[in-house]
Amino acid sequence: MATAMSGGCLCGAVRFTATPKDRDVGACHCSMCRKWTAGPFMVVDCADTMKVENDASLGVYRSSEWAERCFCKQCGTALFYRLVGKGQHYVSAEAFDDRAGYALTSQVFIDEKPDYYDFANKTHNMTGAEVFAAFAPPEAGQAKG
Ligand SMILES: [Zn+2]
Ligand SMILES: [Zn+2]
Repeated sequence: MATAMSGGCLCGAVRFTATPKDRDVGACHCSMCRKWTAGPFMVVDCADTMKVENDASLGVYRSSEWAERCFCKQCGTALFYRLVGKGQHYVSAEAFDDRAGYALTSQVFIDEKPDYYDFANKTHNMTGAEVFAAFAPPEAGQAKG
C-alpha cells in the first residue's frame, strides 16, 4: 500500500524519496510554519522513511528544542519538518513529484490561522492547546516548534 515516492525542491539540488503513511494531508496554521513557508504548511506523515539523495544543499534550521526544519540552501524550498532524535518526518505535500489521491483531512493550530483565508474542506481541526494535549512535545507531530 505505502510506496516510496520521489520529490525535491524547486531547483532540483535536493532530491529525496519518502513513503507517506497514507494520502492524508494535514495543514498547520501555526505562526512558525506560516512564516517559514509563506502559507499554511501542508504535510504528509512519512515517519522515518525520509532518504535525502544528496544533502550538500540541505539546510537544517533548529526551530525549537524538539524540531528541525529542513530546506534547500540554493532555492529556499521548505521541504520537511522533523522531530529531533525521533526519526519522525512531516514532508511538504508540495515537495513530492506526484500528489495523486491526496486529500486534506486535518488542520492544526486552527486558532492561529489568520482571518484572511479559510479552507472549505471538511477536516478534523485542532487548536494548538488540543495538539499539545493530544501529543505533548516532543512527540508533537505538527506542533509548533
Ligand atoms: Zn533547491
Ligand atoms: Zn506549524
